[in-house]
Amino acid sequence: MKNKQKIILEYMHNLFPDAGCELVSNNGYELIVSVILSAQCTDKRVNQTTPALFAKYPTVYDLAKANQSDVEDIIKPCGFYHNKAKNIIACSKAIVEKYGGELPKTVEEMMTLPGVGMKTAKVVCGDLYKSKVIAVDTHVKRVSNRLGLVNEQNADKISIMLEKMFADDITSVHHRFVLFGRYYCKSQNPKCENCGLKNVCDYYKHK
Ligand code: SF4
Repeated sequence: MKNKQKIILEYMHNLFPDAGCELVSNNGYELIVSVILSAQCTDKRVNQTTPALFAKYPTVYDLAKANQSDVEDIIKPCGFYHNKAKNIIACSKAIVEKYGGELPKTVEEMMTLPGVGMKTAKVVCGDLYKSKVIAVDTHVKRVSNRLGLVNEQNADKISIMLEKMFADDITSVHHRFVLFGRYYCKSQNPKCENCGLKNVCDYYKHK
């Protein structure tokens, strides 16, 4: 690993020693549903919404049989509720019908589920199976471009580039970049003056 990448990892490790997923879930079913609901929505809002959803549909079998408008009513606060309800029901059905009620074990299989793209598949596989992957959301994309680790806007390509770059020490890279982007290197008004990565940051150099 190059020096710059080491500096970045060490800094983020010190900032977020216990970095993990901020979505609350008790099992794979709850995790994948929560990740699908989190698209274009805050984790906080998802966490406020899912207790009612999982109280009504405690297992993947229950959600697979759910009525779409009942689900829409519950998940409305998460936005895009029509598509999200359709996707979480279809995803649950596929898990039941193709995988016997258990989540698939690989990113590739996970991506065959309705509503599950590379980002969702990697978040779930990273958290559930400790797979050596880096999911790229809007925060990871912004932070890795600003730091000059990549010069790329396609999330799936960034994911593959970062996985190669951090292959030696990949654990929690996704969560650390997400938290760093969410709380420090924000989209508007990043906290550059107090940032310990100023010296290795392309965005700061060209400010
Ligand atoms: S210096 Fe600013 S832009 Fe660069 S990583 Fe730090 S907060 Fe982000």
